[in-house]
Amino acid sequence: MDDLRRRLGELACGRRLLDATAATGGVHLVGGAVRDLLLGRVPRELDVVVEGEVLPLAAALGTAATTHERFATATVVDGDCRWDLAASRAEDYARPGALPDVRPAAIDEDLLRRDVTINAIALDLGDGRVRAVDHALEDLQAGLLRVLHDASFLDDPTRLWRIARYAARLGFELEAGTARLAVEAVAAGAAERVSGSRIGSELRLALAEPDPVAALERIAGLGLAPWLAPDRPRTEQALALLPAGEGRPDLVVLAAAIAEDEGDADQRFAGLELTAVERAVLRAAAHAPALASRALAAERPSRLARILRGVPVEAVVLAAADGASAPVARWLADLRHVGLAIDGDDLLAAGMARGPQIGRRLAATLERRLDGEIRDDREEQIADAMGGT
Ligand code: ATP
Repeated sequence: MDDLRRRLGELACGRRLLDATAATGGVHLVGGAVRDLLLGRVPRELDVVVEGEVLPLAAALGTAATTHERFATATVVDGDCRWDLAASRAEDYARPGALPDVRPAAIDEDLLRRDVTINAIALDLGDGRVRAVDHALEDLQAGLLRVLHDASFLDDPTRLWRIARYAARLGFELEAGTARLAVEAVAAGAAERVSGSRIGSELRLALAEPDPVAALERIAGLGLAPWLAPDRPRTEQALALLPAGEGRPDLVVLAAAIAEDEGDADQRFAGLELTAVERAVLRAAAHAPALASRALAAERPSRLARILRGVPVEAVVLAAADGASAPVARWLADLRHVGLAIDGDDLLAAGMARGPQIGRRLAATLERRLDGEIRDDREEQIADAMGGT
């Protein structure tokens, strides 16, 4: 398998890792990086397991190391490179769902604490040897996701979410026994035992996948989030209208996948540690179908502007996907950019008294401008706003 080390060496950060480990034994590349190299994909990150101390290797790689002594891990970041180092360890779960007891162990045992066989492969950077748990290499060939033991999902239910992401990303299927264990774990309430903040971070990871809709489909398919009902056409229609550089595509994907009859969006997302902006977008997006009906019913541009102004753009494009594509396209391309050539100072200069009426007059003039009743002309606009004073 020296070919694997050669492929690793073709990556700048992989080359540096190999150089730093030239003199040390017992250093292994593990997890997704080995899986991806074997699949001919570019690894997303380099996870390294050291049989022994991590700090000497961290020092050989660079200086900017974050270390966690308790877990015997270190992260080294240098330029575009990042290496996550961990001392080889075994984990024992006192009871399902509890935090594991950790102790130092050899690499073969370290592999046994991992989630699926295809992630339980280690490449010895010293001699190029590959170590893998049973079935790992066949599963990689066959495109199968298989847990390492029957209690895997009960020990750590976030593995259900992880498996959904891998299935979507790699186009892999759950091995029959693993599929059965997943169904049993979900039936036993494993999914509900995952804390809100962990669901939040798993959701973020799912949304960052190359095909986030596929990831959400797998999550929903496994029954992990009954409030998710991904809808690819609706999502794609909405994304197609999202103006370049505006809004958050990941929130469009998430909002488009939220089952309509699932009630209060705020309550649904409480505890997921979303930001205030994210919550506001999801709340607005939950009303996209109603927004679409109102936008379709607006007889005048000024009315449409009243309906859509201030609504997060993610919710606006979802309203387009919900049937209001013509009015939304008009709003996004044209109406939302319409403004006045005048401001409050012009009305003061023309003799209007200070006060809230200035804002009201300007707003009314803008409506007439939107409806094409007055032109883009300062004098005309001042006259319009002053009219009747
Ligand atoms: P990526 O998703 O970026 O391809 P990855 O597969 O390497 O990455 P990480 O989340 O970076 O996944 O985790 C690194 C490795 O740690 C995994 O490949 C897996 O072996 C192990 N691992 C991570 N989380 C768990 C978990 N919850 N249970 C068991 N093993 C895990």
